[in-house]
Amino acid sequence: MSFTTRFAPSPTGYLHLGHAFSALTAFDVARAARGRFLLRIEDIDQGRARPEFEAAIFEDLAWLGIEWETPVRRQSEHMADYEAALRSLIDRQLVYRCFRTRKEIAEAIASAPHGEPEEPFRGEALPPEEEAAKLDAGEAFAWRLSLKKARAALGPAYFALVFEDETGPVRAEPERRGDVVLARKDFGTSYHLASVWDDALQGVTHVIRGEDLRDAAHLHVLLQKLLELPQPVYRHHQLILGEDGKRLAKRDQAATLSALRESGKTPADVRAMIDL
Ligand code: GLU
Repeated sequence: MSFTTRFAPSPTGYLHLGHAFSALTAFDVARAARGRFLLRIEDIDQGRARPEFEAAIFEDLAWLGIEWETPVRRQSEHMADYEAALRSLIDRQLVYRCFRTRKEIAEAIASAPHGEPEEPFRGEALPPEEEAAKLDAGEAFAWRLSLKKARAALGPAYFALVFEDETGPVRAEPERRGDVVLARKDFGTSYHLASVWDDALQGVTHVIRGEDLRDAAHLHVLLQKLLELPQPVYRHHQLILGEDGKRLAKRDQAATLSALRESGKTPADVRAMIDL
């Protein structure tokens, strides 16, 4: 399979220097390998995704000189795919209904978890009568991946999960994230499920992204194993930090590519600013 990588932004804000570093790194590596570079719009969070942010993504990347294959995959148009993946996990009882979801978890489900995981959650399905009563009462729930069931299903293969990262082979430790939420009753997928599914579907051989998503890879390789998807090579690159020494975030207006462009900076200036 030919070298294929991707840049997968969520259109929930304007791209900044950190995104430029990620996109240009992936694009340059694809070029050097004479491989493919894909752009994927991760807009499953319809509450936060906005058409103007998506339009700005195309504009900013084109301005940087990046070229991508078309058509671009927009996740919101493929919810049935992710639901089918979830269904296969439900059928094999690898996920369970959790009625104890806090509001924040529910809100965070669609976004990529940058940085350290929160306190890992562990649980299991309620006894059937109790669950039936809650369902009858219309209580909200989320589908959580059961690490216990995943371990039982995979046997020794669970402990042999390894992924290739920039630093060499890493033994996967899905426990770091605990029993993650993979979908909500009223929300057919999470970032994890959609992203892993699409990487496989699109034939992505190399996932190049910031090191704040390295922890997520420990879970992603488990999902790949459970869903019998191929495992890409990972490369988690260093992050571009703001003046405060913290990871750039959507609130750092001055570092957005549109602000830089308006202030007269060129794509070459941007490359210099991020040491490329
Ligand atoms: N959509 C994610 C984000 O914008 C990126 C996910 C990934 O590269 O795996 O943070």
